[in-house]
Amino acid sequence: MKIARYLAHGQISYGAVEGDSVKELSASPFEDFTITDHTHKLSEVKLLAPCEPTKVLAIGLNYSSHLHDRPAPTEPMVFYKTPTSVIGPGETIIRPKDTEKLDAEAELVIVIKDRCHKLTKANAMQHVLGYTCGNDVSARDWQRDDRNWWRAKSADTFTPAGPYIETELDPHNIRVTGRINGKEVQSESTTYLIFDVPTILEYVTEYVTLEAGDMIYTGTPGEPQEMKDGDVCEIEIEGIGVLSNPIKLET
Ligand code: MG
Repeated sequence: MKIARYLAHGQISYGAVEGDSVKELSASPFEDFTITDHTHKLSEVKLLAPCEPTKVLAIGLNYSSHLHDRPAPTEPMVFYKTPTSVIGPGETIIRPKDTEKLDAEAELVIVIKDRCHKLTKANAMQHVLGYTCGNDVSARDWQRDDRNWWRAKSADTFTPAGPYIETELDPHNIRVTGRINGKEVQSESTTYLIFDVPTILEYVTEYVTLEAGDMIYTGTPGEPQEMKDGDVCEIEIEGIGVLSNPIKLET
């Protein structure tokens, strides 16, 4: 099932996407719900970020194609992104005027189903609601020069997510593609993740409790490219859809 979160007639709802329509859910997808007959055309609703995380985690250096001369990590390299930096499909990524290089990072994103802690690889997948597309927007000069990544990865608008949560996806061999102005700049299968989804969940929840709607960005492949004023960035993941965001320079 593809689950959208959307605004229609001033009300925010979750719905099941079927073709060009969305059918409202009776409750959030993190509770018991049914699919109602209350239907909208997708073209008549505003899609929002597909969930409201209490926290966003991300994994760095998780594809060998992204390592270059850096050694492969021996355990997942985890960092945080702020929930306030999350934006939805179609929303504008603001490029701060004082960063020298703002890159797009196409990533598969795990959406957590319920509160969980101390998971094992064997039971971890029971706590995944589904997957969405994410852009781990990265200000490279700040990432390089600041003592930590507080603004390099979490300035406002730096965490686009969407358009849907796909609940019936096997995440282990799907293609993750990044495009800027229609030109493909990243494309790789998740089969090349250094740490796969169950391994990430076991590692993170050893230390940190995850909550319903929390998101984990799983890392980016290849060579991320820069996003400039007026560009449009698309992240496409096989089986989920396309997350598209325009870029504007801060004024
Ligand atoms: Mg990343």
